[in-house]
Amino acid sequence: MKIPARLHLANLPTRIDNMQNLSTELGVHIYVKRDDETGSELAGNKVRKLEFVLPDALAQGCDTLITCGGIQSNHARAVTAAAVRLGLSAMLVLKTDSPPPCPDGNYLMNKLLGATFRFISEQDYAGHRDEIMEDVRKELAAKGRKAYVIPEGASNGLGCFGYYQCLYEITGQEKEMGVTFDTIVVPVGSGGTYGGLYIANKELNAGKRIAGFNVCNTAEFFRERIAGEIHEALQLGGGQLAFTKEDIDIVDGYVGSGYALSRKEELDFIAKTARTDGIIFDPVYTGKALYGLYHEIKKGRFVTGKNILFIHTGGFPGLLPKREAFGF
Ligand SMILES: *Cc1c(COP(=O)(O)O)cnc(C)c1O
Repeated sequence: MKIPARLHLANLPTRIDNMQNLSTELGVHIYVKRDDETGSELAGNKVRKLEFVLPDALAQGCDTLITCGGIQSNHARAVTAAAVRLGLSAMLVLKTDSPPPCPDGNYLMNKLLGATFRFISEQDYAGHRDEIMEDVRKELAAKGRKAYVIPEGASNGLGCFGYYQCLYEITGQEKEMGVTFDTIVVPVGSGGTYGGLYIANKELNAGKRIAGFNVCNTAEFFRERIAGEIHEALQLGGGQLAFTKEDIDIVDGYVGSGYALSRKEELDFIAKTARTDGIIFDPVYTGKALYGLYHEIKKGRFVTGKNILFIHTGGFPGLLPKREAFGF
């Protein structure tokens, strides 16, 4: 594959930790790739994707980045932080009926970083977010500004290259560590993380199982969406890979109460792993995905993994607005 232009924004390579106690309990080896440590303001998985999306924005001479997400979107916060570093403005289209009176987590960080906001309803977000971002772009253009629209989660063809590159990073680390990860597990929220890993796994003939746990929608929804993202990336990179939608391995059943909504058992699990292994997972993505992996292994349904690499995709700021739900 031809690799598109790239910016260097993330602290790479990220470390791989052993989750000793959870591994002992489950009778498998679980390792955690610390993509929550790709940075501070620019932390989490979105930074890797933005490294490939932002050169396109700069090449087009834009002065503003527009993107969208939930009120606690890690992606939106990463875009704002990147915008500031690059001397651009950030305009965020966020899904909420009313912004919280006391800013917290990612929304607080976005305020600190100087983003501007457009708040839209859940329905508008679900059905019209791309049109709304396009409208915002036109409004800014009428004022003489040039904005670049980044889709939800930076999950498009360019964004996929972030985790395409990450799989190469992982295979390098396997050699250094003398370990082969037979399975890689990631949360799935907009699909670009999964898509990139999938392409590189095929290209390298690495034969790993790439398992995604969806945190919203359904497995079928994501097989469709990720297939589209993969096609787009292959087109950009001039790659030829034969794959079918059915190959996209999404483990459904752990959305729980819905996107960004937490059940008590998920929060208890986050507290448990914090105490046994000293790693804090987030409530929206990694906490749900690891909770799902844990239960799939316990039920004997997740039998492929001897050495499982779980990618900690970040999301710590999203934990803070949940403080009351923990009930401490
Ligand atoms: C966005 C996000 C994900 C999901 O990644 P996608 O590429 O959108 O599927 C996972 N974890 C965290 C912390 C995120 O912010």
